[in-house]
Amino acid sequence: MTASASFTIAGGGPVGSLLAVLLARHGYRVGLYESRPDSRKTSIYQGKSINIALSDRGWRSLQKIGGIDAVKDEATPMYRRSIHGQNGELMQQPYGKGDEAIWSVSRGGINEQLLNIAEREANVSTHFGHKLVDVDFETATTQFSTEGGGSVEVRADFLFGADGAHSKVRRLAHRIPRFSYSQTYMPQCYIELSIPRNTDGSHRLDKNALHIWPRKDFMLIALPNPDGSFTCTLFMNYSGDISFESLQDRPAVENFFSEYFSDALDYLESPVDEFLKKTAASLFLVHVYPWTFNNKVGLIGDAAHAIVPFYGQGMNAGFEDCAELNDLIVALDHDWQRIFPAYQERRKPNGDAIAELSKRNFVEMSDLSGDERFQLRKKIEAKFHAEHPELWTPLYSMVTFSPDIPYAEALRTGDVQKEIMDEIMQIPDIENVWTEEFVYDELSRLSTAKLGVNR
Ligand SMILES: Cc1cc2nc3c(=O)[nH]c(=O)nc-3n(C[C@H](O)[C@H](O)[C@H](O)COP(=O)(O)OP(=O)(O)OC[C@H]3O[C@@H](n4cnc5c(N)ncnc54)[C@H](O)[C@@H]3O)c2cc1C
Repeated sequence: MTASASFTIAGGGPVGSLLAVLLARHGYRVGLYESRPDSRKTSIYQGKSINIALSDRGWRSLQKIGGIDAVKDEATPMYRRSIHGQNGELMQQPYGKGDEAIWSVSRGGINEQLLNIAEREANVSTHFGHKLVDVDFETATTQFSTEGGGSVEVRADFLFGADGAHSKVRRLAHRIPRFSYSQTYMPQCYIELSIPRNTDGSHRLDKNALHIWPRKDFMLIALPNPDGSFTCTLFMNYSGDISFESLQDRPAVENFFSEYFSDALDYLESPVDEFLKKTAASLFLVHVYPWTFNNKVGLIGDAAHAIVPFYGQGMNAGFEDCAELNDLIVALDHDWQRIFPAYQERRKPNGDAIAELSKRNFVEMSDLSGDERFQLRKKIEAKFHAEHPELWTPLYSMVTFSPDIPYAEALRTGDVQKEIMDEIMQIPDIENVWTEEFVYDELSRLSTAKLGVNR
């Protein structure tokens, strides 16, 4: 197969747009089809500044296409978690060492910047208002319905479904014999709230932190925007004692905010009105297998692995899918009979691993991040990592700042580290002796025995 082949990409979100650029740079002809109108012309993101955390895996993948300075110019580094206790106390937890940071970026903004880059490629054509409705999995021929009520058939050599968590390509794949699928709803749902900027345009809270108000079964988080505002997300159970279902009237919602988020009330913009007005969105995980069909059609990004947002990795993982596919195109010399299976073999275990890590991280964010013993664990790990980076990299750093470590390896290593730290935390009076050398000698002994060096 030569680079003269053609691709259809269904879904012009961040992953579909990045994939279009990468394929085009290899010489392929790419048709990028997006169901929604062009956000750059219709301002579908107007009034909404949904932002997400981009970290090293995302940046490294974006670097493959260059021209990302504009993305970084619009991004705000978050060096630490700022944890807001229920009594107003504030605690800081660095995310990594030195200037390691996760970056708050606008989801719509990054999508638009990637679309701009894609459209500068001569062999990419973009088609907005085109909704994929059918796929022939033998030939990669697709059918799209168009805004005016029409329909078009698109022929190409290959198809990628980059059409997100509710992927139509994935739903159509149910027709294929032995297609495995599972979708699991999380107990939590979410709504977005906001903190406006000060009148002088400055941020009302530390802009270089991701703010968390952990309240065990629910939590509020806030990420900074460059315009001085913060976008906040309230995660809470769909049903149960304190839940979106149980909090239905104004007095109940007012009580809820003043009891659990009294300090945030000084900053939030009309949280009670927003809460009562908005419908909580669901969170779910999707696992599928296979990710590729007949070496003609593949799934990528959220279409392949819809995960929950508690590790801030969904888009990072989707960008990494693109970057690894790009590497395989080079390594396997454009032989798509080998690229599709290799892509699936390499990415599926990592998709499963980041899904598991993300699910587990809700507990860390909403409960443990405010817990003193948990803080102590983190401090011991950070000290040991600083002294012995060849023996220990904390799980968060492996996932967020170590793109050379695949997610699946981070998950495996993290599980062993947890066993080791459970033992360390059993050391009598650990709260007072945690800086002493014998604690780190024991950590060295256990980690060398159970993990080896160069983690
Ligand atoms: C609350 C929340 C917070 C998050 N926070 C983070 C974070 O901090 N860090 C992070 O990395 N990730 C985060 N994510 C995840 C991130 O948003 C997704 O992983 C990312 O958007 C996936 O990109 P995608 O291009 O695969 O899918 P999408 O962004 O969903 O894009 C898919 C595109 O396909 C289009 N489409 C859908 N159906 C069709 C069709 N039939 N035909 C044609 N086009 C179609 C859609 O309109 C859309 O434009 C978060 C998600 C949520 C919900």
